[in-house]
Amino acid sequence: MSARLMLVHAHPDDETSQTGATLARYAAEGRVTLVTCTLGEAGDIVADDLSYLTAETLGEHRLGELHAAMADLGVTDYVRLGGDFAYRDSGMTTDEQGTVHPLDDLHPDCFWRADLLEAATHLVALIRDRRPQVLATYDTVGGYGHPDHVQAHRVAMYAYVLAGTASFRPDLGGAWTVSRVLWTAWDAASVPEMVAVADQLGLSELLTGWFDPGAELPPMFVPHEYIGARVHEQPWAAQVASALGRYRSQVDVDDPWWQFVKVAPDVPRYESFRLAAGVPFPPGEHPATDLFAGLSLDD
Ligand SMILES: [Zn+2]
Repeated sequence: MSARLMLVHAHPDDETSQTGATLARYAAEGRVTLVTCTLGEAGDIVADDLSYLTAETLGEHRLGELHAAMADLGVTDYVRLGGDFAYRDSGMTTDEQGTVHPLDDLHPDCFWRADLLEAATHLVALIRDRRPQVLATYDTVGGYGHPDHVQAHRVAMYAYVLAGTASFRPDLGGAWTVSRVLWTAWDAASVPEMVAVADQLGLSELLTGWFDPGAELPPMFVPHEYIGARVHEQPWAAQVASALGRYRSQVDVDDPWWQFVKVAPDVPRYESFRLAAGVPFPPGEHPATDLFAGLSLDD
C-alpha cells in the first residue's frame, strides 16, 4: 500500500521548474515515476561555456542534467516516453503578442508531429506497469503554450483513458484506472502574494504587464475555486534549488526570474494543481494539501 504518483512532462527541467517540490515530497512519502517526452534538443542554451552544444548533442547533455537533478530530488524511477530519443523537441516560436506557436519548419521526428495513438500507447504500458493512483500533467494549453507541453497533455489524457480500457492492447498488461488526473496550474488568488514576493525580492519589474487592471491573466492562472490541491514548496526548497541548478544549459539560477519563481529562500510558494478527471478532493480543506487526499490506496 503506497501512494504512487506519475508525472508526464515535455522536456528535462520542466519537472523541476514546475513540480520539483511535488517530486521530492512524493519520492520521500511514496513512489514517483517521471515520464519525460523529449530530451529538449531545441532548448536555448543560457550558459556561455556550453554554447558548443548543438541540436545533435544537447539532448544527451540534458539527459545528464536530468540524472543529476533526479538524484537531488530523490527520484529513482524516471524514463523517456518510448525510450531515449524516441521523440524530439519540437521547438517553438513567439509572435508579437507573446503567443507561442509551433515552428513552420518542424523536424520529422518532433513530438508535435507524433502519432497520438502511438505515443499514448507507450504511456499506457507505463501506467499499467507502475499503476499510479494520481497522474499529473499540463493543462490543455500546456501552461504557456509550448507545443510539446500541449502534446504531453494530449498524450497523457488519451493514455489515461486507454490504460483503463481492458480490451485495449491487453498484451501491455491488465487495465489500470488512474484514480485522479491533475493539471498543473497557477492560482489566480495568489496574484497579490506574487506581487508582494516580487517586491520583497526587489524584482517588481518582472511582473510588468502581467497583472494590469482589466487585462486577462495569463492562461495558466485559474480561479482559486478550481485549485484542487497544492504542495507547499518550503520543506523541499533546498533540494529543488539544487536540482534546478543542475540544468545549467537551460537555467541560470541567478537570473531574477528563477530567483522569483523557485530559488530565493524564505518566500511562500506552492505548486498548484486542478482536478481534471477522477475522484474529487474531499470537502473541507481547500485546496487540499495532499494530491492523494481522499483516495483509497489499498492496492
Ligand atoms: Zn518544456
